[in-house]
Amino acid sequence: MKAAVFLDRDGVLCEDRADYVRSWADWRWVPGALEGAAAIARAGRPLVVITNQACIGKGLVPRAVVDGIHRRMGDDLAAAGAPLAGVYVCPHAPDDGCDCRKPRPGMLLAAARDLDLDLAASTFVGDNLRDGEAAAAAGTRFVLTLTGQGPRWLEEARRRGAPPRTAPDLRAAAELILRG
Ligand SMILES: [Mg+2]
Ligand SMILES: [Zn+2]
Repeated sequence: MKAAVFLDRDGVLCEDRADYVRSWADWRWVPGALEGAAAIARAGRPLVVITNQACIGKGLVPRAVVDGIHRRMGDDLAAAGAPLAGVYVCPHAPDDGCDCRKPRPGMLLAAARDLDLDLAASTFVGDNLRDGEAAAAAGTRFVLTLTGQGPRWLEEARRRGAPPRTAPDLRAAAELILRG
């Protein structure tokens, strides 16, 4: 079993947009994301993207378009030295009651099963406390990045009295994870 690094997409890899990434033209890499992913890959840790895309379930963006965006994302990551082991997408709307939409752990559990991953030794990097809740429910570790919505969620976590481990961006998160 391998120790993976799970990556949230919006706010960690690409800039978070309130109106959704609807085409590759909308995609902006978060600074440090490609470098951080490459550092994780160099250390031999599988990289797996775990993303809620309610835009599909709401009928705003077709599934095939989201899949096309993910092919371009994967191509850029591979070119940077960070090929992906998997991409898991929840296509459901928030009120669909599915098992995969974060904060539920369905996508993490499916990835662990499909890719033979050691959840307890793996880490999820996300910019939202929903990612942290999914990580906790799956028994995996969590780092909150302060890119995307991270700063707002860190404030919320402090109000709740349970601040998570944080890193300024994916590059710094990679250093934190690889230090052990
Ligand atoms: Mg996010
Ligand atoms: Zn779902």
